[in-house]
Amino acid sequence: MKPQPATRIRTCRACGRRYEYPLKGNLATRHHCDECVHVAPDIRRIVEKLSARIQALEKALEMQGGG
Ligand SMILES: [Zn+2]
Repeated sequence: MKPQPATRIRTCRACGRRYEYPLKGNLATRHHCDECVHVAPDIRRIVEKLSARIQALEKALEMQGGG
């Protein structure tokens, strides 16, 4: 029996979803979940940019503290 690779929780670059990688029978890659992996690369690039901006905004909001 082959040792199984350790699965890790990863965050999708495109949609921000958390997913396990690698999972058997799952097409997810290191940077994209199994849903975003089907998105056309040029569109995915745009989505990734938007996602990065949202993350930056979320961080900026967190920095303001409180809640
Ligand atoms: Zn995704």
